[in-house]
Amino acid sequence: RLPLALIFGLLAAWITWIATARRMSFSWEINMGIAQREFTLFCQPLLNTRAQRCDGVEILLRWNNPRLGPITPDVFIPIAEAKNLILPLTRYVLNETAKELHRFPADPKFHIGINVAAAHLRDDKILLEDLNNLWFSVNPTVQLTIELTERDALHDVNAGLLRALHGKNIQLAIDDFGTGNSSLSWLEKLHPDVLKIDKSFTHAIGTDAVNSTVTDIIIALGQRLNIELVAEGVETPEQANYLQRHGVHLLQGYLYAPPMPLEEFPQWLAEHNG
Ligand code: C2E
Ligand code: CA
Ligand code: CA
Ligand code: CA
Repeated sequence: RLPLALIFGLLAAWITWIATARRMSFSWEINMGIAQREFTLFCQPLLNTRAQRCDGVEILLRWNNPRLGPITPDVFIPIAEAKNLILPLTRYVLNETAKELHRFPADPKFHIGINVAAAHLRDDKILLEDLNNLWFSVNPTVQLTIELTERDALHDVNAGLLRALHGKNIQLAIDDFGTGNSSLSWLEKLHPDVLKIDKSFTHAIGTDAVNSTVTDIIIALGQRLNIELVAEGVETPEQANYLQRHGVHLLQGYLYAPPMPLEEFPQWLAEHNG
């Protein structure tokens, strides 16, 4: 009879193997998805409630995987990051967005937000090269905003890179502000133009005393440092009113519009900007 320890050992090895195989196959899936262009771009409007108009959009990826069914970005983005596939995925988004710019107003003040993982800043040449090849090559008539998530720690960012981005009229936004563990050091390192208040703080308004205090503090911080504030996940008129009363006028959320396919955006804009 096999000793129990051996059986458990084999079982553990088998489980590890299955887990590895699954992750490997997920890398294969992402590569395949890029090659076959299975990813599509959606966009969600950003409302400027003071001017009562849409000032920009955020680009959000969708993946309708023909083998596995739809997969949400909350699932595939962290895996792409862990598997070193986030750079090709970001390049795909930049490239596809640049090809679709005719869907958006040709206005240098119209913002297009693209989510970029901090991995893209690891080496200051990667981002600038990708932007030159994939974005500036089409002579964009809109302003690009790079939304950086503090999901993983930020490496030392070269001040030259930040100057170069600003010189090219690119804005930097810190996404999900307040949810990472190094928010304050990011402010100092990046000198961002925009802070995006995470939806967990927006949802806390009127319901959660501790988190809504954090919301107030983030707003105060942005105002003191002269950083533009955008609130995401705005779902109710109460949240919108509270944010506006506290000086946050750029709002994004289901209250205004869900993410939509890029083809639908021109009509949505015509109906909303009049
Ligand atoms: P995020 O950048 O914080 O994007 C905002 C998320 O909030 C989106 O989820 C959006 O659909 C959702 N949302 C918008 N309005 C509301 C609302 O009123 N209520 C609620 N509850 N949710 C709202 P989505 O599209 O599932 O994306 C999830 C995350 O995946 C994004 O969070 C972003 O971190 C990542 N992601 C999406 N597309 C890309 C991409 O192209 N590149 C990278 N690196 N990450 C991406
Ligand atoms: Ca974002
Ligand atoms: Ca966010
Ligand atoms: Ca988020």
